[in-house]
Amino acid sequence: MNEPPKILVVDDEEAIRDSCRQALAKDGYVVDTAENGQSGLQKIKESQPDLVLIDLKMPGMSGMELLEAIGQIDPTIVSVVITGYATIESAVEAMKRNAYDFLPKPFTPDQLRIVIERGLERRRLAAETERLRREKEMMRENFVTLVTHQLRSPLTSVKQYFGVIREGFAGEATDEQKEMIEKAAGKIDRLLELINDWLDMSRVEAGKIAENFERVSLTPMLSEILEELKPQAEARKVSLELHPGDNPIVIDGDPKCLKEAILNLVNNGINYNRAGGSVTIDQKSQDNDLVVEVSDTGIGIPQEDLPFIFDEFFRVKSRETQHIPGTGLGLPIAKKIIEAHKGRMKVASELGRGTTFSILLPKANQSEGSNMT
Ligand code: ADP
Repeated sequence: MNEPPKILVVDDEEAIRDSCRQALAKDGYVVDTAENGQSGLQKIKESQPDLVLIDLKMPGMSGMELLEAIGQIDPTIVSVVITGYATIESAVEAMKRNAYDFLPKPFTPDQLRIVIERGLERRRLAAETERLRREKEMMRENFVTLVTHQLRSPLTSVKQYFGVIREGFAGEATDEQKEMIEKAAGKIDRLLELINDWLDMSRVEAGKIAENFERVSLTPMLSEILEELKPQAEARKVSLELHPGDNPIVIDGDPKCLKEAILNLVNNGINYNRAGGSVTIDQKSQDNDLVVEVSDTGIGIPQEDLPFIFDEFFRVKSRETQHIPGTGLGLPIAKKIIEAHKGRMKVASELGRGTTFSILLPKANQSEGSNMT
C-alpha cells in the first residue's frame, strides 16, 4: 500500500500549527510542524515531505528564504504559502520562488483541504511524468542496444561471409551464384544503411549532440564533403562545385554532426540528379546567420510533397525515384541536427529543374572565446 503523504507546516503561530495538524491528520496525512524557517529547513532535509505549508512572515529565516532553500534541496516538493497579508506582489514573488499555491489567512479547514489536495495531485502528476520520462529513456536505450548488437553486428558478419564466398575463398562460385550473392549483399547494405540512419536519429533525438559543441568554420568541412562524395558523383556523371565565400564565418557546433547533415544534402543532390547535372554548395553570411545552400539541377520535388519532405521515412514516390535506394531518414536527421544548433532548414524546389536546401546557423558570438578547429 502507498504511504500516506507527508506534510510539514512551518508557522510561528502555534494556533495555526495546531489547527492545520488537526485538520490534516484527520484526513490521514502524516503531519509534522516547525515553528521557524531554520527548524523547518532541518525537517525538510531529514524527512523529505511531499508538501510544505509555509508562513511568509516569520521571525528569523523568512518564508521567502525558506522557499528558495526548498527549491535548491528538492524542487519537486510542493510549497504552499500562508500569509496574512496576501498582496499580489508577495504572491508573485512567492510563485517566482517556486511556490505552487497561496492560502490567505484566516482560512477554513475546507479551504486548507482543497489547497492541499490540489498541491498533492500536482506532486503525483510530476512524479508520474518523471517516471514515464525515465521509462521512455530506458526503453530507447535498450532498443538502441538491441538494434546495435542483435541486428547490426550479425548483419555485418553476414556481409563479411558473402565477401568471402564472392572472392572464392570458400571454393569457386559459379557466375550465377556470385550474382545472387551480389544481390543479397546489396540488400544487406540497404538494411545496414537503415539501421545506421535510425541509430543516428535516435542519438540526435536523445539531445546528445549539444554536449560536443566547439567553435568551427565550415569551409574545410565543405571541401572534405566534396572530396568524399567525388567518386559517387563521378559514377553518376554529376559535377560538384563549391563557393565557400571570402570571409571566414565561425559558428558554435558539433563538427561531426554538422558534417553529417550537410553530407546528407549533397548526397541527395547527387542521387536525385541526372547524368550531366550539377550540385553546388554556397556558403555566405546573412544578417546574424551563416547560410549554406546546397543546390542541384536534378529531378526536383513535387510541390505537394514539399510539406512532408522532413518527415521520418517519407520518400517521394515517382517513376524517377523508385530505383533510387534510400531510407527517408536523411532529411529528418539533418533537420534535427540543425535545430539542435538553434538553426533552421529551408527547401525550394521546381519539378524537373532542381532543388535548393538552405541551412541557416547562428554565427558564433566572436567576443566569447576563440578556440577554433
Ligand atoms: P532518402 O534519400 O534516404 O530517401 P531523405 O530523407 O534524405 O531520404 O529524403 C527524403 C526524400 O526526399 C527522398 O526519398 C527524395 O524523394 C526526396 N529528396 C530529398 N532530396 C532531394 C533532392 N535534392 N532532389 C529531389 N528529391 C529529393
